Amino acid sequence: MDHAGARRTLVVGNWKMNGSLASNQLLLDAIAGRDGDSSGRGDVAVCVPAPYLAQVARRLAGSRVAWGAQDVSEHESGAYTGETSAAMLRDFGCRYAIVGHSERRTLFGDSDERVAAKAERAIAAGLVPIVCIGETLAEREQGRAAPVVQRQLDAVLERIGVAGLSQAVVAYEPVWAIGTGKTASPEEAQAMHAMIRAQVTTVDGAVARRLQLLYGGSVKASNARALFACEDIDGGLIGGASLVASDFLAIVDAASAS
Ligand code: PEP
Repeated sequence: MDHAGARRTLVVGNWKMNGSLASNQLLLDAIAGRDGDSSGRGDVAVCVPAPYLAQVARRLAGSRVAWGAQDVSEHESGAYTGETSAAMLRDFGCRYAIVGHSERRTLFGDSDERVAAKAERAIAAGLVPIVCIGETLAEREQGRAAPVVQRQLDAVLERIGVAGLSQAVVAYEPVWAIGTGKTASPEEAQAMHAMIRAQVTTVDGAVARRLQLLYGGSVKASNARALFACEDIDGGLIGGASLVASDFLAIVDAASAS
């Protein structure tokens, strides 16, 4: 199946803990100035640090570029100091919330269960969770990449069901490729994406066919086209390259050309 024919492409920038009011303004001007994907075939978004959501919402409102957060609380509201609720993100016009990014899993202890709870909370508030899954280098070297990724997805499926998954985006991000300059080859990435889609197919074929599956891990302008040309890769979650407007827009162009 030609993914471009059946599913819209999506390119999401993950700014991580970078930026300032001044540097964000320049980046947003460049991204919004291009008005997203000029072909109209794909979606574009940026997931930004929470303190900048007001700035980003103000600048991107009315453009074709959506915005979101990099995490969301599993709790609805209350005595959870430091947390940001899904309803708060909706207040700022967020469309997306990343959940389960490997940095949250490894540095902040987000378990499969917590990631699933966050995805559920996001959906309940009307957000689209971008559920990140992916194996570490050690897991890949031990031949455990597939079962690890399946386990991470299963935990989410168990909690939100296939109906919930139909309102989510899944990002396959091999941990060894994030911020390292090492990208999975298009063949390696496509094989994992096909496996993830097959896993969802066993539950619901129609949801699996519609599911937007992003690849993340050192995507750059130079490798984006080959990755996005793969049948089951519907776009990308972009870290480092999303901080440079020309690089990010070149990746957006690669997605719309796929
Ligand atoms: C990410 O943070 O999700 C990511 C893929 O980062 P990078 O593109 O820098 O590898």
